[in-house]
Amino acid sequence: MAGTRFSYVKTFEQPDPLLPETYMVLRLDGHGFHKFSDTHGFAKPNDERALQLMDAAAAAVMDEFRDVVLAFGESDEFSFLLRKKCTLYNRRQSKILSTLVSFFTSVYVLRWPAFFPDTPLQYPPSFDGRIVLYPAQQHVRDYFAWRQADTHINNLYNTTFWALVQQGGQSTTQAHETLKGTVASGKNEMLFSRFGINYATLPARFRKGSVLVREVPKVEPEPDVDAAGGVCETDARQDAVPPTTSAPSKRQKKVVVVLHEDIIENQFWDDRPELLA
Ligand code: ATP
Ligand code: ATP
Ligand code: MG
Ligand code: MG
Ligand code: MG
Ligand code: MG
Ligand code: MG
Repeated sequence: MAGTRFSYVKTFEQPDPLLPETYMVLRLDGHGFHKFSDTHGFAKPNDERALQLMDAAAAAVMDEFRDVVLAFGESDEFSFLLRKKCTLYNRRQSKILSTLVSFFTSVYVLRWPAFFPDTPLQYPPSFDGRIVLYPAQQHVRDYFAWRQADTHINNLYNTTFWALVQQGGQSTTQAHETLKGTVASGKNEMLFSRFGINYATLPARFRKGSVLVREVPKVEPEPDVDAAGGVCETDARQDAVPPTTSAPSKRQKKVVVVLHEDIIENQFWDDRPELLA
């Protein structure tokens, strides 16, 4: 392209290629979602609509970017694993990061009314993002284990905290005080003896977070009839009516499914060796 006397400014740009042959993990997190969740009346400790909206935005990212092989979400964050051989945008860091985060954000806003029909958006939500490179499979395993362990720790804390406030009549300051220095077993005990809550029976979505992978559906996927965003509600796919035919054929297309299962132990990874290929 012909240069002008101004085009030297382009040479100030720094290349930012990500190391080849390494796993990329992109994590995004809602900016100021403590306030955002208050303003929009999220149920505490877990607003299911908000979690489902996060899942839908993440599923849309996976539909759009085939290099993303796994996603894990909790609260206002999502982590995406891009396969080691990924050559998206020549592995330019800022290009990948900014494109995925803005795509996620757009879908979050686009699909907001489907999940919050009675709550108009008060202001534009935003998400920060980072990419971390991991050279070894064990790092990737430990990364996702770290996030899911965090889900558990936070959810146990938040569930007990809000039980003290909502059922125990404590102020938020008092509830913080009550929980200071307690360990997991103490919180479990407090939940059960004082509030009749058996932590283990709470919804798996809250305890384990959301795990998104591509799978041949065990049931026929519903046709994509969503006019608003062109993105299927992934839960709806799982809940689709089973077809009359028996085993899924090998030719069936994989779709993104949302699971709420353990990713710390070996089973999940042993069943899906392609994730770390
Ligand atoms: P930062 O901008 O630093 O990320 P933040 O206010 O978003 O600040 P986080 O540590 O990311 O802080 O925590 C997100 C907060 O958003 C949670 O503590 C919780 O209050 C709220 N939140 C997010 N998702 C939900 C949900 N599904 N239900 C209820 N509250 C939620
Ligand atoms: P990349 O993803 O690499 O940025 P791109 O297709 O977005 O690829 P750009 O170099 O950013 O390419 O150029 C943006 C293109 O979008 C322009 O060349 C033009 O074709 C189109 N475009 C953007 N804004 C307008 C506009 N207001 N009116 C008409 N065309 C526009
Ligand atoms: Mg943050
Ligand atoms: Mg946040
Ligand atoms: Mg967060
Ligand atoms: Mg341009
Ligand atoms: Mg452009």
